[in-house]
Amino acid sequence: MTSGDGLGTEFFLAWIDRLTESVAAAKDRLTTLDAAIGDGDHGTNLNRGFTAARAALAATPPPYPGAVFVQVGTTLISSVGGASGPLYGTVFRRTGKALGETEKVSARELAAALAVGLAAVQKLGGASVGDKTMVDAFTPAIDTLTAGLADDASADEAFDAAASAAEAAALGTIPLRARKGRASYLGERSEGHEDPGAASTALLWRALADTAADRGR
Ligand code: ADP
Ligand code: MG
Repeated sequence: MTSGDGLGTEFFLAWIDRLTESVAAAKDRLTTLDAAIGDGDHGTNLNRGFTAARAALAATPPPYPGAVFVQVGTTLISSVGGASGPLYGTVFRRTGKALGETEKVSARELAAALAVGLAAVQKLGGASVGDKTMVDAFTPAIDTLTAGLADDASADEAFDAAASAAEAAALGTIPLRARKGRASYLGERSEGHEDPGAASTALLWRALADTAADRGR
């Protein structure tokens, strides 16, 4: 992919497909992470949610990229219990609404829309960077993507750097003490474990980077 190309509906469907596969493959790991500092359901929650989202997209094909996000978000909210359903659902829905009805989205427009989605999650959940949540991985990923695109890096490189930033930030949650969500009930006992939501956010960004890389081949 070159930065001049727009990303169409097919691109985002391919991304959700890939993300659904990677969540399914990581289901047990995410659940194990959540068993350590939560209630052990994050992998099953997200696997159920993305499987349902992919089925919903197949049943009712979305007409433009924003509609992919809105439909995924709506499905996550209705099919995933717990904190992560409404939180991820909000990221997707608000990002999709920010994209509007545009048929081809530039990487910069996507980065800006994702920032709107992240802000909505922070408003809903009250988490800031360092609270040991998905926000810890999402924030540097968006910042890295935005900076990479401003630098005129190719969009592929910017997506790859963003995914690497999310992965590093997910690992960076290990020493932190949780201040939001179920893990915060553990206080200092939440230290020493990777946050499951930050880990799943890294999957989301890696799937995006891989989808972008595939498109360029
Ligand atoms: P639950 O905690 O209800 O069992 P999940 O296990 O599916 O839900 O998701 C847990 C993840 O949700 C956490 O690892 C964390 O990343 C994220 N999370 C929890 N509370 C918040 C919050 N207030 N803001 C942002 N993310 C949160
Ligand atoms: Mg849980």
